[in-house]
Amino acid sequence: MAEQNQVLRVFSDFEVADAQLAFYSYEAAVQSIITHSQRKLRHGLLPPEAHEYPLVAQLELTSKCNLNCRFCYNRSGETDRVAHDLNSDEIIDVAKQVADLNAMHVVLTGGEVFCVTEELFTVLEIFRDRAIDSFILTNGWACSEAVFRRLCEFNISGIQVSIDGPCAAIHDNARGRSGSWARAVSALYLSKECGFYTIAACVILPETFAPEYVSDYIDMCYYLGADEAILTEVMMMGRAVRNASSLAYSREMLDTVKVLRELHREKLAEYGNRMFIGWAQVPAIAMTMTTMRPPNGFVIQPDGNIQLNCLVPVSLGNVRERRLAELWETRIRFAHRDPEVARYVEQQTPVSLYYRRQD
Ligand code: SF4
Repeated sequence: MAEQNQVLRVFSDFEVADAQLAFYSYEAAVQSIITHSQRKLRHGLLPPEAHEYPLVAQLELTSKCNLNCRFCYNRSGETDRVAHDLNSDEIIDVAKQVADLNAMHVVLTGGEVFCVTEELFTVLEIFRDRAIDSFILTNGWACSEAVFRRLCEFNISGIQVSIDGPCAAIHDNARGRSGSWARAVSALYLSKECGFYTIAACVILPETFAPEYVSDYIDMCYYLGADEAILTEVMMMGRAVRNASSLAYSREMLDTVKVLRELHREKLAEYGNRMFIGWAQVPAIAMTMTTMRPPNGFVIQPDGNIQLNCLVPVSLGNVRERRLAELWETRIRFAHRDPEVARYVEQQTPVSLYYRRQD
């Protein structure tokens, strides 16, 4: 296993994505990555033991949200979450610390980032002044033309808007607010109009887990002008656990996922370089990889807690208690070898990630 771990550190996310496209089976995907990585090792392409600087820092600026999605893995909008959010001064200080750490790229998300619009614009200014590019994730609810005009003043590498299907009924129902699909579609359109690299991201729900829906969704994204469409599976965490009865994929669905994978491949070929179609990492594989290569970044949650990623809820420290640089140097950059992280990951199994009922 130790040897496997060493080999697995070499792969890149693209290779993982390739492996997942080729095989849905967890074991087959891991085996494909090992083979790929062994080839790299033979050519002397060794990975670093740990990254010196973070490549990606994800800042969850708030727990507030104007929607109430039944699958929200962060439980955004719930009172006990919002009560512990960093205040405006703390958010700005954390952004400065991220900039001081020489992060190459920043992802700004929430909750919903446009629930703290003024903090968002201050943070964007900090990163622009340090030549760090920012990527924004939004549900599109509050994205007016005026907001997009302001965004044009910053160095934004892309905007991702959540749209969960080709029609309003399913999206609005899953996101808990009528009118949310129409606003998300409008945000996608405005983003493209302003010249941003624009991504539409969809959570595949049990009711849209069918080739005709996925096919219509991809076509819709193209006609709206998206540069990229991303398909994501439900992460059985946070509010999704409470709503598991309506969100968990059945075993039959998991058995038929190969049909969707095949469709994905066909659509990739159909759209060629006019629009990329991504399939987000299968949670089980992504989580397993967490312990197998040095982290290239981290997530700072709205309460200041730091995690490796959204899937592994192990706190690596809190920016309210220690400086980010110190946490990066002493713990985060070596977190693939962290005993607590390893213990958490070992407890999970591929299937349990779909059925897990914990909060
Ligand atoms: S999934 Fe996103 S839009 Fe939905 S409640 Fe959570 S943070 Fe808000």
